[in-house]
Amino acid sequence: KMQGGISSRKEKILVLVRFRPLSDEEIARNEVSDWECINETSILFRNSLHERSSSPTAYTYDRIFGGDCSTRQVYDAGAKEIALSVVSGINSSIFAYGQTSSGKTHTMLGITEYTVSEIYDYIQRHEERVFVLKFSALEIYNEDVRDLLSTNSIPLRLLDDPEKGTVVEKLTEEILRDQKHLKELLSVCEARRQMEETSLNETSSRSHQILKLTIDSSACEFVGKGKSATLSASVNFIDLAGSERASQALSVGHRLKEGCHINRSLLTLSTVIHKLSKGRRGHVNYRDSKLTRILQPCLGGNARTAIICTLSPALSNVEQSRNTLLFANCAK
Ligand code: ADP
Ligand code: MG
Repeated sequence: KMQGGISSRKEKILVLVRFRPLSDEEIARNEVSDWECINETSILFRNSLHERSSSPTAYTYDRIFGGDCSTRQVYDAGAKEIALSVVSGINSSIFAYGQTSSGKTHTMLGITEYTVSEIYDYIQRHEERVFVLKFSALEIYNEDVRDLLSTNSIPLRLLDDPEKGTVVEKLTEEILRDQKHLKELLSVCEARRQMEETSLNETSSRSHQILKLTIDSSACEFVGKGKSATLSASVNFIDLAGSERASQALSVGHRLKEGCHINRSLLTLSTVIHKLSKGRRGHVNYRDSKLTRILQPCLGGNARTAIICTLSPALSNVEQSRNTLLFANCAK
C-alpha cells in the first residue's frame, strides 16, 4: 500500500487481539460468547457493548485470534518477527494486556519458549559468530521492583547509567546454557510469584512481570583479539497486571495505594504507547512509572513493539473486554 513498506511497518506497533475459549466454569454458568469475527482483522460485538456507547461496533486490529487458535499461530502472526529482530541487534518488547484470567500468562509463556527455541536454531545455523544469551526476570508490584531470580525480596533501585540508560541495580542476570535451563529459570520465577501470591493475596493479578533476554554476539574471528564488534540487543516479554486494575473503583488504605500505583504504570504505559504509535515525536513520559523507565531502551528509537491483547469471550466480561479494546485502539 505504502512506499518503503518495511520501514513504515517497523515503526508501527503490532496489535494482536486474542480471545481465549470459554472456560469450563463459564460453560457451566451457561455463559455465551459475545463477539463475532467479521474477518481476520475485524470483530463485532453482538450485545450490550455498542448499545451504550457511540463508538463504532466493529473494531479492527492487525490480527484477531479466536478461542480455537494456538499460541503458535499468534506467535507466527508477527510476534515472531519482532522477537527475532533481537538477533540483528534490534531491541523489542512484547506485551500481554488484558483482564485477569483472560490468558496473558498462557500466551506469554508460549511466546517466550518459541522465541528462545528459534534463537537457538538461529545460533546453530550461524557458526561464524559467538553468541551469549542472558536472562533476567523482575516484577513490579506497587512501584517496587523485585528480582524474580533471587530469594532476596528487597526492592531494587533504578539507576541512570550514562551509556545504558536506566538500569536495575543488582538484578540477577543468568547466562543461559540451553533451553532446559530457561525452563528451569521460568519455574523459579513462577514459584516466586506464587509464593508472594499466597502472602500478599493474588499478587500476580496486580504485578507486572518483565522477562528479558539479551543476546550478545561477535564474529568468531574477533573473539579474544580485543576488537570490539559485539552486537547486543534485548527482547522483553511483559506480562502486565490485570487491566481491571486500571479501571476498578478503588477502596481505602493499602488497596488504594496499590490501585493507584498499578493505575499509574498502566496509565503511563498507555500514554507512552499512544505517543509512540503516533510517530515518536515530541516528549514521551517514560519517567512517570517504573515500568516505562525500565522498558525505555526497548520501546523508543528503532525498537520494535507488539501488544497482544487477551480477552475473555464471555458476555459477563464485556465491559472489561471493551476497556481492553480501547487500550488496543490507542496503540494503533
Ligand atoms: P491471566 O494471566 O490473564 O490472568 P491465564 O493465562 O492464567 O490468565 O489464563 C487463565 C486460564 O485460562 C488458565 O487456566 C489458562 O490455562 C486458560 N487459558 C488462557 N488462554 C487460553 C487459551 N487460549 N486456550 C486455552 N486455555 C487458555
Ligand atoms: Mg497471569
